[in-house]
Amino acid sequence: MLPKYRRILLKLSGESLMGTRNYGIDPQMLDQYAKEIKEITNIGVQVAVVIGGGNIYRGMNEHETGIERAQGDYMGMLATVINGMALQAALDKVGVSTRLQSAIKMEQVAEPYIRRRAMRHLEKGRVVIFGAGTGNPYFTTDTAGSLRAIEIKADVILKGTRVDGIYSADPEKDPTATRYETLSFADVISQNLKVMDMTAFTLCQENDLPIIVFDMNRTGNLLNVVTGKHVGTLVS
Ligand code: UDP
Repeated sequence: MLPKYRRILLKLSGESLMGTRNYGIDPQMLDQYAKEIKEITNIGVQVAVVIGGGNIYRGMNEHETGIERAQGDYMGMLATVINGMALQAALDKVGVSTRLQSAIKMEQVAEPYIRRRAMRHLEKGRVVIFGAGTGNPYFTTDTAGSLRAIEIKADVILKGTRVDGIYSADPEKDPTATRYETLSFADVISQNLKVMDMTAFTLCQENDLPIIVFDMNRTGNLLNVVTGKHVGTLVS
């Protein structure tokens, strides 16, 4: 099987790691994701990953937590490192070589983020996990995903979610919602569709980075996406 994309950035939400739990990490999900990632590295795809932290901590709810936004955001960034370490362990277990790079220095557990080094790892076939988001409060891990994807010259950003693409309305609420196969960046804006937050989305648009939103929980889907099967929604 030939890959359509040579280098990808996979964005996973922290919440996807919860599986059926309502907090933290489900080992089964980790194992499943590690195996899916292994499958695409086996056909020669270079894989970088950005994971969210929403299963552990989200910074923006200042009024609920009583912790000021910037401080909470740093806590959220640390949460993404925990998830990154968990995914790294799961990838190790299935025999995939990995490096974790953190945007906040944490020498004992992760390399610092160094763009050129990350690219060398990718060329050598190692999966590179980017932790700690962008390293800055007031951003999201979607923005970190877009930013890193552009920096490392990924061909596409793959946003793994629990729905199989972008719909005309929320498919979990509106049964008449229909799925788009392809959309332009302008369509997404004019129809006010939710793909990523505006900062992340605009970065992709300005740098011509295509986005594919797809269901990461369906086995084999990641492989389908990278081999160019019609899965999810492509924004380009
Ligand atoms: N965060 C941040 N800067 C970044 C990335 C993340 O401050 O560059 C913080 C922010 O508080 C966010 C939390 O980390 O709420 C977890 O990330 P996110 O909510 O994007 O994770 P996901 O929704 O994908 O699980």
